[in-house]
Amino acid sequence: MEVFNEINKLKIFYNSNHISQKTIGFVPTMGALHEGHISLVRKSKEENDITVCSIFVNPIQFNNKEDLKKYPRDLDSDLKMLEKEKCDIVFAPSVEEMYPEPDNTKYDFGHLDKILEGEFREGHFNGVAVVVKKLFDIVNPSKAYFGNKDYQQLTIVRQLVKMLKLDIEIVGCPIIREKDGLAMSSRNKLLTVEERNAASNIPKILFRAKELKHSIPIKILKHWIEDEINSVPLLKLEYFDIVNSETLLSISSFNKDEKNIACIAVYSGKIRLIDNIVF
Ligand code: AMP
Repeated sequence: MEVFNEINKLKIFYNSNHISQKTIGFVPTMGALHEGHISLVRKSKEENDITVCSIFVNPIQFNNKEDLKKYPRDLDSDLKMLEKEKCDIVFAPSVEEMYPEPDNTKYDFGHLDKILEGEFREGHFNGVAVVVKKLFDIVNPSKAYFGNKDYQQLTIVRQLVKMLKLDIEIVGCPIIREKDGLAMSSRNKLLTVEERNAASNIPKILFRAKELKHSIPIKILKHWIEDEINSVPLLKLEYFDIVNSETLLSISSFNKDEKNIACIAVYSGKIRLIDNIVF
């Protein structure tokens, strides 16, 4: 496994090993890797000659300084995990390497980045789009792998590729969950035992809501979710919505020809967690 911190060194390696003539699968991450990330690396390895994983905690996608400061980082453990998976190349740049000067690019995603997460994390998706585009330019992938865990991010990256007419296939991958159903997330590492126990109710409530979807109207279901989540000590609902899987627009009734996703953001103590399931 080759590890690079600098764009130039990565480029030299690409040239001397004729990497651009091979199919390159790319897995962008912010590190503190878990089985969710590893599932993307495995998928990329199945489908490409070369797999590149990036590890970069992108400051411009954090709308909250405290969140950026406490975001978990463990490069040694990440490299061990990637080595075990036989990942070919790791790109782990510094902030200065990625942003020698501020990048003020503004993308127009219409309503897509203003709803759900966008309503509570201003500028987050623009920051994601800026770093993803920069990484795509550096890594030059044929395919890039993203988790359905961050469903809105996946939708926005697809839109970015479409808008900029990039020749990259975006592959959405299933959510990997802990044994009790909690979606794996780097942020789970920040939970206290009590917060972790409380968080296990999030998927349980989501899956119960899915069972109830034909017996109660959506409006009532939304109140039900809110009451269920908020009745668990330490949990506080930020939002819950059921949306069309392509437009991400909120639906008011179910239509059997449409795929719907139920999206949720919940605080367990001070840690903000997101999840979604196909409804
Ligand atoms: P992150 O490091 O949180 O930015 O995530 C990097 C990539 O891994 C994103 O495409 C995420 O959607 C994906 N990912 C994170 N958690 C999971 C999970 N539990 N299952 C599948 N993919 C995930």
